[in-house]
Formats: sequence, structure tokens, C-alpha cells
Amino acid sequence: MAKEDLECSFCGRKKPDTSLLIAGLDAHICDRCIVQAHGIVEEEGKEDDDGELSNELMLRKPKAIKSFLDEYVIGQEFTKKVMSVAVYNHYKRLLQPKSDDDIEIQKSNIIMVGQTGTGKTLIAKTIARMLNVPLAIVDATVLTEAGYVGEDVESILTRLLQAADYNLEKAQRGIVFIDEIDKIARKGDNPSITRDVSGEGVQQALLKLLEGTVVNVPPKGGRKHPDQKFIEVDTENILFIAGGAFDGIERVIQKRLNMQAVGFSASMKEDVIEKDNVLQYIIPKDLKEFGLIPEVIGRLPVLSHMDPLDVGTLRAILTEPKNAIIKQYKKLFEMDEVAFTITDDALGYIVGKAIEYKLGARGLRSLCEAILTDAMFEMPDGEETELEVTREYAEQKLNSATIKKLKAVS
Ligand code: ADP
Repeated sequence: MAKEDLECSFCGRKKPDTSLLIAGLDAHICDRCIVQAHGIVEEEGKEDDDGELSNELMLRKPKAIKSFLDEYVIGQEFTKKVMSVAVYNHYKRLLQPKSDDDIEIQKSNIIMVGQTGTGKTLIAKTIARMLNVPLAIVDATVLTEAGYVGEDVESILTRLLQAADYNLEKAQRGIVFIDEIDKIARKGDNPSITRDVSGEGVQQALLKLLEGTVVNVPPKGGRKHPDQKFIEVDTENILFIAGGAFDGIERVIQKRLNMQAVGFSASMKEDVIEKDNVLQYIIPKDLKEFGLIPEVIGRLPVLSHMDPLDVGTLRAILTEPKNAIIKQYKKLFEMDEVAFTITDDALGYIVGKAIEYKLGARGLRSLCEAILTDAMFEMPDGEETELEVTREYAEQKLNSATIKKLKAVS
């Protein structure tokens, strides 16, 4: 057959009428049909997404979840364990087909109580990464009741939609981390009315989301786009993790423990109470005392506490996690062919300063940055191929003025 006589086996167009004609075993396809076929494949793919979601979601057994967390989060054994179980149960619940035995497994939303910088956000981020689900991190302090200045509670879901690239199915299986939940506690004895705007009212609004409901969400968020169409988001399968420092809750716990010890529970007296980690004795009632409304507490049934970071933990945070700060610097220097090492003594010094100036784990990074900035500036085009950071080196780079500055920004 002459070349001109060849035709597309799909649309019948002759070769001269096409820009391209590709030959198969017994057939040909032209450029236009390829584009069209590609479109069909894409469309089909979209429809299949729902089914694929379960495969995409990487659910592991609790022990495997915990091991994954161990790679990134140092210490916090209790929270990691509690979290692994809660996350496993939550996703098991939504991956399983509805059964007809009327046993409805409730959501295991989580609340983590612990000082700032102890790893709450890190845990939420690590879980989301492991599961391959979208994560929205929101700060409860910016939330207000509808109608007031600030963000409506629905904006939380806008963030989640954005994190899921507007894939509704994915968003509906995502995780929302609400930071600083303690800041919307009811201020019972606070006379200021405005204060309560961001208090109980917001808690009531949040309740709706935590319970599992269909919410009309403005996809672009805010009130700046009044014309946008709402997207209906079902929060039934969204996992909510709340975190907060709850400053002063130790006093509430201590008071309760003392009362129990003095009162009927003689056994409490015998149990030695670890005074420097009272948070571990927290119970839901303490949250209520602090100002969370009982309904919200009830919707966050998994309560966990974060341990304070001690010297050993801070030191481990510097070197052990998969993407530990020191490992990152090593890599950065490696790219400039500089072999970077740091002595144990220098690490001890950095941790010491972080504790002395109450900089927490976040401060470790700023301290390292302050110590290494000169080297990172000079070395890329210098002759030196080695950098050993000793205690003396660190001390020299980190004079007290620098530390004071770090403290001011932390
Ligand atoms: P929080 O949410 O409790 O305020 P973050 O999770 O944001 O604290 O922690 C701040 C940073 O400190 C993290 O990005 C991480 O680098 C480090 N960090 C804190 N706690 C830990 C921990 N237990 N293990 C590893 N790194 C930690």
C-alpha cells in the first residue's frame, strides 16, 4: 500500500490529512485520536480515584506506626503509643465496609497536652506523611465565632481542601491539627466580654466539626470572595488532633491529686507522684476545669500528654532523628565538599545553652545556625575541606549577645 493510502484505524483520516500517523501491529492511529484517547484515559482515572484512595492510604499496624514515629520523634513514648493506636483505629474504621451489626465505631480524635516545642506538631506531621493523607495545621487563636473579626471555624476545612489539592475525597480522610486549643478555653472569671468571643463560642462552633457533619466550605476561604460556590465537606472521617500547652494546668492536676491523697484514696498517697512531670496524671476533668467545655472534651476522647524535654532528649534530637539538625548540616557542608564534624562536648554545650535560656527544641536549630553561619559563609569558596566544631569553637561563635537575640525571637 502506498504511504498516502494509509489511514487512521479509529477515524479513517488518510495520512496526508493528519500531522502524525503511528503504526501499530495491524492498525494505525492519528495524532487527533491520540489526544482524544488520552482525554478518555484521564477521565477514567479520575473516576477510579475513589477506589484507589484506600490503596494510597498507607495504613500500618500500630507497632509499625510507632516505629515510623520513632524515626522522627525522640522520646514521648506514651503519646507515640496512644497515637499509633488511635490513628490505626480511626483509619481501620473508615477503610472497613459498613457492617450491619449496628456497632458504630466512634472517631478517635486526639488531644495532646504539653509545653510548646515538645513535638506535638511534629507528631501530627509525621503521622500525615506516613499515611499519605493531607494535613491542615491551624491555630485556634485566629478562630472566632462567625460574624466576628478573625477566621470562621469553616476556614479549617478550606485549609484541608487546599492541602488536598481540592480533592474532596482525600480531604475527607485527612488530618486537621488544631494548635493552641487551650487558648479558646472559657475564661470563666474573666470580666472582658470580647475575650469570650474567642472562647466558648468558638468551642461550640468547633464541636460541630468534631462531631462529624456536612459543612459548607468556601473553597478559597475568608469573606473576601463572596461569590464563590461552597463545597460540601463531610467531617465524619476527618481525624482531628488538638494540641495545647495549657499553661497552669499542672496546678489543677496537683490540686486534684492532693485532694485525692488527703481524701478517700489512700492508695494515691503511696504512689509516688513525680512532681516534675505532673502532666502525666492528666484526666479529662482537668481540661474541663481549665475551661474546655465538656462536649468538646467528649469529642476528643484520646487524651495524651507530652513529657518535658530533658538534656538527654534534646541531645538526641540534635543527632538521632532521620532528618536530625546535625545530619542536615553535615549534608549541607558535604555539598561543598567539606567534612563536617562536631564533638560531644560541643553538642553538650549547645544543649546546655538551650536549657539555660529555655529555648526548647526549636532553639537548638537557631543555636546551631548562629554557630555555623560564619563557616557556611566562608567555606564554600575557601580552601579548607574540614570543619570540626569543638566546644571552644561554639563558645566563640555564640557570645551572650547572640543568645539574648535568639531568646528574644523564640
Ligand atoms: P509543638 O507543636 O509541641 O510546639 P513542634 O512539634 O513544633 O512543637 O516542635 C518544634 C521543633 O522541635 C520540631 O520541628 C522538631 O525539630 C523539634 N522537636 C520537638 N520535639 C521533638 C521530639 N520529641 N523529637 C524530635 N524533634 C523534636
